[in-house]
Amino acid sequence: MALIVQKYGGSSVGSVERIQAVARRIMTTVQAGQGKNSVVVVVSAMGKTTDGLIKLATEITPQPNRREMDMLLSTGEQVSIALLSMALQHYGQAAISLNGAQVGIVTESAHTRARILHIETERLERHLGQGKVVVVAGFQGISNSEDLEVTTLGRGGSDTSAVALAAALKADLCEIYTDVPGILTTDPRIVENARLLDEITCDEMLELASLGAKVLHPRAVEIARNYGVKLAVRSSWTEDAGTLVLSPPRPPRPLEGLEIARPVDGISIDTDQAKIALLHVPDRPGIAAHFFGELARTGLDVDLIIQSIQEDESGEPPGHNDIAFTVRTGLLAEAEAVARRVGQELGCSEVTVDTHVAKVSIAGAGMIGRPGVAAQMFTTLAAAGINLQLISTSEVKVSCIVSVDDGQKAITSLCLGFDVDNSAARLDASTPIALVSPAPVRGVALDVNQARLAIRQVPDRPGMAAHLFQTLAKQGVSVDMIIQSQRGKVVNGVMTNDIAFTVSQVDAEAARTALEEVARELGCGSVVLDKGIAKVSIVGTGMVGQPGVAARMFAALAQEQINIEMIATSEIKVSCVVAEDEGPRALRAIHTAFELAGSVPVSVAKP
Ligand code: ADP
Ligand code: ASP
Ligand code: MG
Repeated sequence: MALIVQKYGGSSVGSVERIQAVARRIMTTVQAGQGKNSVVVVVSAMGKTTDGLIKLATEITPQPNRREMDMLLSTGEQVSIALLSMALQHYGQAAISLNGAQVGIVTESAHTRARILHIETERLERHLGQGKVVVVAGFQGISNSEDLEVTTLGRGGSDTSAVALAAALKADLCEIYTDVPGILTTDPRIVENARLLDEITCDEMLELASLGAKVLHPRAVEIARNYGVKLAVRSSWTEDAGTLVLSPPRPPRPLEGLEIARPVDGISIDTDQAKIALLHVPDRPGIAAHFFGELARTGLDVDLIIQSIQEDESGEPPGHNDIAFTVRTGLLAEAEAVARRVGQELGCSEVTVDTHVAKVSIAGAGMIGRPGVAAQMFTTLAAAGINLQLISTSEVKVSCIVSVDDGQKAITSLCLGFDVDNSAARLDASTPIALVSPAPVRGVALDVNQARLAIRQVPDRPGMAAHLFQTLAKQGVSVDMIIQSQRGKVVNGVMTNDIAFTVSQVDAEAARTALEEVARELGCGSVVLDKGIAKVSIVGTGMVGQPGVAARMFAALAQEQINIEMIATSEIKVSCVVAEDEGPRALRAIHTAFELAGSVPVSVAKP
């Protein structure tokens, strides 16, 4: 006898026939355990219902009130839970539908983007004990058990409801049923020969999900990772096994504050780092490919790579930018030689080398979608008087390159700030990470819903990043790919840098308005918004310690004559910003370059 949570997405319950098919599948699951399996089902709104409701709201007002939006959107899921329960009952299976409030899915009060704090299991367990299938409305909760304020979790949030229920109920398995056979190397709607993965690690899936692979909500992966939920993604059209999402073994964790407990659980410093920067590099296709290709040919593994946005110059195209990267100190001499040689060929104005740096990082799955965490890191470092030279972010990690002299101070203040045991902080992060897959890249993703914001001429002194990102955090805006130019410009006697980063398009205008205000206060230059960008990314734990992976990605883009506008890496991903209309072509080129294509065509169910 097992307790199983199943989630069916919008297209899986998009019609009466589909609801009936889902009901039959649920009954098969119940009967599989000699009629004794307990099944909790989470469903999304039918088909494109949520999109339709949003459209209705925006026809009434361009900026609907968030509370009323939740009231509206939560109705979609209520339709499908009722219909699915009716179908089950019609087939002779006892069932009951419950909305978020009836279950007791308690969330924060942040309307349209609430996080789950706690799930009551008493009523669920009572109905399961009576032999009923419980059909729960995904995507919704209540923020206040007195006023029963309805909240929603954010688009795609039913996955998160399902995994959270599985964690709360300590279910044996959580299955996410959708319209593709499982997790694929990329989106089959853009790349026809995407291949099914049998398994993927939570860390890889977290990155893919937050870089645009909407097959799983990133917060669902976060909960699975934190609570060790056994998670599978499968097609609701076939009997195939789908993909297993693997979590590392975890010590038990309290269920209170489910999605908000302890955002950071590790702090580390790596002093075995040297930074090399190529300044004033021409901004045209093939430059990064050529440079990192040369490094790879020499067998040099680079760690962080950052390419800033174009310099603010009125000159003729192609324009210029900076490329900075870090290597282990042992590789510095060789890397520097390549940088100087190739830098000269490329016509860059200067190559700078800094051996006096350290990388300090905070890590933890709980920081996903919580912009305050990175901002808190910058604030903590600023309060200690530490200047940030490079920033690299991923969904589960933020790393900053600082002067090595500040390293120990940085660790001490971060451990204090995030309440992490100082002795647990690894003092040398050069420990190798075991490879789980021989292939360096597991999946590639495209996100066309991003915009880029740049703040010109930010004074180069401690506290600037902290101030800017605190402002965004207060607005609930998550940022990714934070990049700072390497060569400061002196404006009115003050050294300044440009800072650029990407945000979700929906947040872009609000972010710009908020930033314009602080930019003025801090004496920065203009705030520039570009919505016409796309972000393409490669993800894989196998790329750690493998030279040439990033170079291969850049070469694939160069071959297609696609210009890279920004580059940012973390240990297990490389992301590039390209022009929006080149996104799909970029994705296909990279997918092919890493030989990810499958031999069997993947079926995508038609609604
Ligand atoms: P549901 O309604 O079941 O929640 P979604 O539309 O949210 O389904 O997610 C499934 C879709 O995710 C697929 O149809 C596919 O187009 C898209 N997708 C993007 N990247 C991937 C990937 N790497 N693997 C599988 N599907 C992906
Ligand atoms: N119905 C919601 C949406 O479309 C939640 C979900 O489907 O996961 O975003
Ligand atoms: Mg979904």
